[in-house]
Amino acid sequence: GLLDPYSIYGRMATNVFRSLYMTGNNLLASVFSSFNNYTFYQTDATIRSLFSFFGGIVMFLLVGYLAWKYGRTWCNTICPVGTVLGFISKCSLFKIRIDANKCNKCELCAGACKAACINSKEGTIDYSRCVDCYNCLEVCKRGALSYSPSCGKQSKTVKEEKQVTDKSKRQFLLSGLTTGLAAATAVPKAVAQKGVQMSGAQVAYKVKHPVMPPGAVSIKHLQAHCTSCHLCISKCPSKVLRPAFMEYGVGGIMQPVADFEKGFCNYDCTVCGEVCPNGAIH
Ligand code: SF4
Ligand code: SF4
Ligand code: SF4
Ligand code: SF4
Repeated sequence: GLLDPYSIYGRMATNVFRSLYMTGNNLLASVFSSFNNYTFYQTDATIRSLFSFFGGIVMFLLVGYLAWKYGRTWCNTICPVGTVLGFISKCSLFKIRIDANKCNKCELCAGACKAACINSKEGTIDYSRCVDCYNCLEVCKRGALSYSPSCGKQSKTVKEEKQVTDKSKRQFLLSGLTTGLAAATAVPKAVAQKGVQMSGAQVAYKVKHPVMPPGAVSIKHLQAHCTSCHLCISKCPSKVLRPAFMEYGVGGIMQPVADFEKGFCNYDCTVCGEVCPNGAIH
């Protein structure tokens, strides 16, 4: 869920954009009210947790930098949705092709490709990352590129396409996931076995379970369904929900946890269950 694009946007909106927007609103309210104009009014601009606030900023900068520097690298290499679509797009009905006889390896197409999937020196295209934007077709001055059916007879001048895939970047994702899973199983045990030192004797006790949002059924259910989109956190009227840090272990970082130091849960409220798009809260 941490790499899911919709959830990443939800976390940025809830933890960063919302606070900045509300702070701007409060500044306007202060200025306008000094002129006896009450068009704007003060609202709650506090951030839900420092960890999620800085996490949102880091994610925003990271995605922005990758998009500015390498086009769609995030989308087609790191994002799990793009990775799954990449497997399907290898079998697309129409594909971009390079005519080896016309191509002079000027690399204009590679420069224009936001998906960074053309290797014009080798004359190959990584179809698992091509997003069919046609930018390459527009810049090729020699008419060496075409968009044609992937099945059927091709002109002999067209270089036989190679099914190339940039595996190094995918391996980065896989190794990251493996490390994350290993840590997710190791850390909760360590957290659960943590003890406290009491006067006179060492009394070990298991850390109490974090308080989940009402309707989350169980930690297992929450972790299996929650993608940490933070929709429930942004909509909770009493602000009792906040992003978890290590309360659920590494696997539950950023998932919602109830913090009764920050607020209370309304007895007749069902908002978090209503807005959750993944059935993590019923
Ligand atoms: S822009 Fe055209 S000629 Fe230049 S490398 Fe790409 S396919 Fe070849
Ligand atoms: S269609 Fe777009 S993504 Fe595909 S090879 Fe051409 S420029 Fe790259
Ligand atoms: S039931 Fe309402 S008040 Fe309670 S955690 Fe959910 S959204 Fe917040
Ligand atoms: S419980 Fe549902 S709404 Fe809340 S963060 Fe998880 S997926 Fe999003």
